[in-house]
Amino acid sequence: MTRKEILTIQTKLLNWYHQNKRELPWRNTTNPYKIWISEIILQQTRVKQGYQYYLNFIKRFPNVKSLAEAEEQEVLKQWQGLGYYTRARNLHKASKMIMCDFNGSFPTQYKDIISLAGIGEYTASAIASFAFQLPYAVLDGNVYRFLSRLFVDETPIQTSEAKKRFNQYATLLLNKKNPDIHNQAIMEMGALQCTPTSPNCVECPVNEHCKAFEMGKIEMFPVKKNKIKQRKRFFNYLFIVENGSTFIQKREEKDIWKNLYEFPLVESEKVLDWEELIKNETFNSYFQEECNLKSVSSIIDIKHVLTHQKIMARFFVLNVVKLKPQNTLEVTFEELKQYPITRLIEIFLEKQKLY
Ligand code: SF4
Repeated sequence: MTRKEILTIQTKLLNWYHQNKRELPWRNTTNPYKIWISEIILQQTRVKQGYQYYLNFIKRFPNVKSLAEAEEQEVLKQWQGLGYYTRARNLHKASKMIMCDFNGSFPTQYKDIISLAGIGEYTASAIASFAFQLPYAVLDGNVYRFLSRLFVDETPIQTSEAKKRFNQYATLLLNKKNPDIHNQAIMEMGALQCTPTSPNCVECPVNEHCKAFEMGKIEMFPVKKNKIKQRKRFFNYLFIVENGSTFIQKREEKDIWKNLYEFPLVESEKVLDWEELIKNETFNSYFQEECNLKSVSSIIDIKHVLTHQKIMARFFVLNVVKLKPQNTLEVTFEELKQYPITRLIEIFLEKQKLY
């Protein structure tokens, strides 16, 4: 690609962006804290879903200090429903790092930004360019798709080889005088124009530079590796209702949903019925004495799909008197709303009209 062609693409991208950009609350700001929060929320969340979360999060934690001083449980509560909770834990951890290592001021250099918990190359480039106008090119899913078509690069996009190659393309195209607007523009181009299916090529401002369009091979890009294998898991929850209260516990292990709350859980290798469940070792470990749990009032099955796991959840609804599972907290349904819970538990409670 010639220098002249690069300059033409840069200009066309900027012009297109000024005419087509969405008005979003985290744009038109150079506040690194707000940019950081928005980028972390948008990592695995669509703009439509993330929008309200962003507003709520910024309202509750308006700056680094307020986030660093909060309890982790409250941060997770704000995050509830967004999924990928490591993002929230890392935000909290990084805010403490900023308070300790950078005297409470958001770092202004790329190497310092990327040293913070949960900040990878993409987020560091986004903050560095949007907040401090540093010349770092961003590479998110939208940009990968756009570049793979523009340059007809067949490298599967999840590979480290692709990361290297696509970073070279993105850096080649980067408008170093306006890295902030250029990065916003290229991401917006992928999100609105160069979409995964049916991109609007006829009206695309850079169609005369796009090799995939010229070759009629748009649907072949980006090239992806085989689909991610999903692990199937079986969760049996004990939903014990006793005088308007129930029992919850915190997930402590290094697993999904760490530090979120859920009902007493028995994980199994297959779907269990009630007779099988009461013979299970984990089930019995919840109860000190033999309890007279003869029956269950209802069973509710919910399939919950995560990126790498498919959870087959079975909720056993038990109406009992004087029964407290070991190591659990008794909470009323009103109190339960104060605890960060998993989306799966939230779905179950919504079905029960309790949330
Ligand atoms: Fe994407 Fe089509 Fe534009 Fe090429 S011409 S960049 S495929 S929208």
